[in-house]
Amino acid sequence: MENEFSFRTRELELASLERDYFEVAIIGGGITGAGIANILAENNIKTVLFEKNDFASGTSSGSSKLIHGGLRYLQQGRIFEVRRLLKERDYLLKNVDIVKTLNFDILIGKSMWNKYKIKFGLFLYNLLAGKFEIPKYNHNVRYNKNISGYYTYSDGITVDSKLVIYNIVSAKKHGCKCFNYCEVVGINKLSDNISLSVNDANSGKTTTVKSRILINASGPWALNIARKFNIKPDISMKLSMGIHIVLPREKYPAENAIVFRSIIDGRQLFLIPTGEIIYIGTTDKFVDSPEYKNVENEDINYLIKSAEYITGHIDINDILFSFSGIRPLIGKSKDPGKISRDFHISVNENIINVLGGKLTDYRYASRKVARKVGRILNKKITIRNYPYIDYARGKHGDMIKYEIYHECPMKPDDILRRRDAFRIYCPHKVDSMEKQIIDEMRGEGMQI
Ligand SMILES: Cc1cc2nc3c(=O)[nH]c(=O)nc-3n(C[C@H](O)[C@H](O)[C@H](O)COP(=O)(O)OP(=O)(O)OC[C@H]3O[C@@H](n4cnc5c(N)ncnc54)[C@H](O)[C@@H]3O)c2cc1C
Repeated sequence: MENEFSFRTRELELASLERDYFEVAIIGGGITGAGIANILAENNIKTVLFEKNDFASGTSSGSSKLIHGGLRYLQQGRIFEVRRLLKERDYLLKNVDIVKTLNFDILIGKSMWNKYKIKFGLFLYNLLAGKFEIPKYNHNVRYNKNISGYYTYSDGITVDSKLVIYNIVSAKKHGCKCFNYCEVVGINKLSDNISLSVNDANSGKTTTVKSRILINASGPWALNIARKFNIKPDISMKLSMGIHIVLPREKYPAENAIVFRSIIDGRQLFLIPTGEIIYIGTTDKFVDSPEYKNVENEDINYLIKSAEYITGHIDINDILFSFSGIRPLIGKSKDPGKISRDFHISVNENIINVLGGKLTDYRYASRKVARKVGRILNKKITIRNYPYIDYARGKHGDMIKYEIYHECPMKPDDILRRRDAFRIYCPHKVDSMEKQIIDEMRGEGMQI
């Protein structure tokens, strides 16, 4: 069972959990929790992570999936943040095989951006990434006649849910215990440590787990958890929902990704081609609750109307599906677009709340958190080159079986939506793959 991470090891490890004592317990198996788990495990800190659904089932599978420096943040003067994000982008592009380069055309012309502003912005963007490059203007031959031209630049793209899974598997390999479908339902502060009640959705059993430190990395749920269990962070957080619509690439071809402005309200939007689909997003609307709601027609129409300026007519019946995520945002502004996308860490004795943040920035955030853990435990923490993803899938004859024993899926959708993400990238394969996954899971003795 060496290096096995499956329904079998999950059950065995859950059974021995009450006898264990951890240095750190993490709530949340999104990119924030996964990155922290990975760096702590790499530092031999005895860590356990609980995720109430599947790993990456929250915001970390509903993002735009871009690994980027945030060109748009330059006009808000957030130079240092952009430089840091570009550094993280370049590390991930170089070291993680599921982060790839993607070319973007940023559009110039009526209702889009000013040529000279973008030229200067891109020059600065490249410079902050360590490249001296004068951006080259392209006269429009690709887009509608209102567009006079475009600049092409590059950023990164990934499969967000896979990036989480890779970090989780890597953390597990280094000794962290990681449990999906385990909800933290109670938190008790004892004199010098924390006692958690954890409910396993699979068996219905509740277990008590003891840890020295608690890290609340539950993304959009973080404030609810903090309030409910009286572990208040020192900052306010707002939630904003973003949706994307997905269309077949063969009907809406695109060579490069496109950065454009909505003709409705001037907001920046993306059209991203990948595999056999394109997706268009995103919206940015305050919501009251972290629980996912149905995507509203109003939001779909907004994206269609905005994108039609670039693509020509979009038939609503061509939309294959939509996906959404809820941003945890730090700050109080009334305009969600103006709230910083940066993260915030608050420490209250042995409880650490991590709020906000970006997919791109997860390594930086986890290094910051790891330092704070080191201070509380009075242990030396190595952060240079960490967290490092010590996992790559490679090629295997029976990939589903490989995932069952190395990536701990518990339900067919865990593979269909997050580990292989056929539901997003290869919609035409979903029916046949679903049947195959169910058969294989049953064949391996899983209760499906
Ligand atoms: C529309 C949209 C587009 C975005 N695009 C980008 C982008 O292109 N690039 C980029 O860098 N960033 C992007 N982001 C930001 C990025 O996706 C998020 O910052 C990031 O995914 C947040 O991760 P997280 O781990 O903090 O939260 P989550 O991924 O939501 O993870 C928190 C987890 O905690 C779990 N949880 C909650 N309560 C409990 C409990 N009681 N017990 C156990 N588990 C619990 C949840 O189930 C959830 O899985 C985007 C965000 C949105 C919404």
